[in-house]
Amino acid sequence: MAIERFECPNCKADMEFDPVTRGMKCAYCGTRTAVAVDPKPEIRENHLSSQSLTPEPNRIRRLSDISKEFTCTGCGAIVQFEPPQVAGACPFCAANIVTQPKNSDPLIAPDGVLPFVVPKGRASSSVREWLASRWFAPGALAALAQPEGIRGIYLPFWTFDAKTNTRYTGQRGDHYFEMVQVQENVNGQNVIREVQQVRTAWKGASGCVAVGFDDVLVPASRSVPPERLQQLSPWKLSDVKPYESAFLSGFQAQRYQVELKDGFVSSRQIMERAVQDEIRRDIGGDEQQIQDSDTRYSNLTFKHLLLPVWVGSYRFEGCVYQVLVNAQTGEVIGDRPYSKGKIFLFVLTLLLVFMFLRSMAGR
Ligand SMILES: [Zn+2]
Ligand SMILES: [Zn+2]
Repeated sequence: MAIERFECPNCKADMEFDPVTRGMKCAYCGTRTAVAVDPKPEIRENHLSSQSLTPEPNRIRRLSDISKEFTCTGCGAIVQFEPPQVAGACPFCAANIVTQPKNSDPLIAPDGVLPFVVPKGRASSSVREWLASRWFAPGALAALAQPEGIRGIYLPFWTFDAKTNTRYTGQRGDHYFEMVQVQENVNGQNVIREVQQVRTAWKGASGCVAVGFDDVLVPASRSVPPERLQQLSPWKLSDVKPYESAFLSGFQAQRYQVELKDGFVSSRQIMERAVQDEIRRDIGGDEQQIQDSDTRYSNLTFKHLLLPVWVGSYRFEGCVYQVLVNAQTGEVIGDRPYSKGKIFLFVLTLLLVFMFLRSMAGR
C-alpha cells in the first residue's frame, strides 16, 4: 500500500505545500522538495451521459490513503485533511470540533486543484487591512488578523463542458413608426396633434443554434453563501493542476455538499440562459419571443475541482461571520458586524463635541 505521507528527506518530519515556492517545505528544518506533478499536464475530463449522471466507479476514491475527516456538528460541513494536521475548529462556523476525526470516506476524486498562491502571512495582512478599513468592527474581530485566525481550505467545485444543439420556434418583432392623432388641451382649448408612435411588427421565426460550453463553474459548497462564492470569482482556471494529494498537505479540503447531478442541474440553468441569448441573437430584430426550444446535449464532461481560500470565521452576538481571501488573487471578501458599543461611543463623542462647540459659540 502506498502511504501518501510527505516525509522530509532530511529530518523525517512532515512536509507541507508551500505557496511561495510552489513546492513542499519542511516546517522544522526548512528543506524544500518539488511536488511530483503528473508529467502530462492534461486534466482528465470525465464523460457523463445526461441520462445517468453517475461517474465511472473508478472515480470514487479517498483523497489519499491517510486522509482524515470530521463532520462539524455546528454547520454540517465535512472537512478533510492530511495528518499530522488536527481538526481544531470548523473553518466555516468556528464551532469547536470535539469528536475524533475518522478516516475519510471515498468521494468523486478531485480531477484538478488550484494550488495556494497567497501564503498565510500575506492573507493575514490583507485581512488586517480589510479590518482596519471597517468602521465600528467589534474588537473581537482583531483575532482574525492573527495568523491563527485564518485557515487554508480548498473549496469544492464542479465544472461542466458540453456541446448543445437547439431547435427553436419564436417570433421576431421589428419596430416601425406610425403617425397617430392625439387630442391635447392647450390653454383650455382642445387641439389635435400628430405624434410618432413605435409599433412592433411580428413575424414567425425558427431555426437552430449550436453553443459550446467550456468549464461552466458551479460551487459544490453550501458552507459559504452563494453571493460570497460569486464574489470570490473569477478564478484563473488555466492554472489548475492535475490533482495531487501533496497540494493538500498543510491545508484542509471540504467534501462537496452539492452532489454531481445537482451541480449539473445548476450548470444547465447557466447553459440554458446562454442558449436563450443565442436564440435571441439568431432571431434578430428589435424584440424576440421564444415559443418553443429543444436542446440536445452532447460531449458532456465534468471535472471536480478544488479551489483555494483562506477562511476566518467568528461568532459575534450569536451570529457567525466569515472573512474569505481568494488564495489565488488575494482579494478579501467578508461579512462584518457592527459593534453597538463602538457606535455608542462614537455618537457620544459627536454629541460632546457638538455641545462643546455650542457652549463656545454662546460665549
Ligand atoms: Zn526537515
Ligand atoms: Zn461548522
